[in-house]
Amino acid sequence: MIKPLIAGNWKMNKTVSEAVAFVKQLRERLPAGLDREVVIAPPYTALPAVAGEARGTGIRVAAQNLHWEENGAFTGEVSAGMLADCGCEYVLVGHSERRTLFGETGEVIHRKIRAALSAGLKPIFCIGENLAERESDKTFSILEGQLKEGLKNLSFDDIRRTVIAYEPVWAIGTGRTASPEQAQEAHAFIRRVIEKQSDEKISGLLPILYGGSVHPGNVDSLMARPDVNGVLVGGASLDVESFARIIMFK
Ligand code: PEP
Repeated sequence: MIKPLIAGNWKMNKTVSEAVAFVKQLRERLPAGLDREVVIAPPYTALPAVAGEARGTGIRVAAQNLHWEENGAFTGEVSAGMLADCGCEYVLVGHSERRTLFGETGEVIHRKIRAALSAGLKPIFCIGENLAERESDKTFSILEGQLKEGLKNLSFDDIRRTVIAYEPVWAIGTGRTASPEQAQEAHAFIRRVIEKQSDEKISGLLPILYGGSVHPGNVDSLMARPDVNGVLVGGASLDVESFARIIMFK
């Protein structure tokens, strides 16, 4: 049984005070002993404050990005160790906005996954096809290629500590969601690829999240699919009522 994981990616939104106010409000809306992992990924500036506010609540903190080196002359960058030091447990890697807007390649993403794992962070490794790739029946080969490059040469133990987020690029921020059937098909395929790279036990325990225009009205049907173990939510995680409803999916 995989514990459901609900993660909110705030992207470049919310000041420190807005972020802290959000966590206070979210805490009040979540029941004690919640059987779901809740993760918030605020911008870098709000990480320490959000981690402080979330301490002891069961809400976990993720960064949205990292650099693969431990330290050095990399102006504007932040390392995995620095993120762990300010209270992060997770980090997003390979988000499609990083790939398309900032030119991140599969090799860069692989280095970032390794760096995260070395510092004790759990990478939320985002993969997904764009519309042209889906329409030309390349979805599976794209997913397999991204997975193989991102996870190459990782130990079984490292794969076990990784979370995969299937985020079809055509569904991110577009209001167009993959159907539960499309999500299930992709997730089952991803699990088979992971099984080949590790073993059945590890692939059976690996959380695979769906991301792409998730909102309170579609989360229940997505989460009803056996290989959908959680969701990565962008826009709908910015509003506390909507994010709380997503966390409390039925
Ligand atoms: C995302 O950015 O990871 C995402 C899924 O965004 P949205 O929910 O807004 O589509």
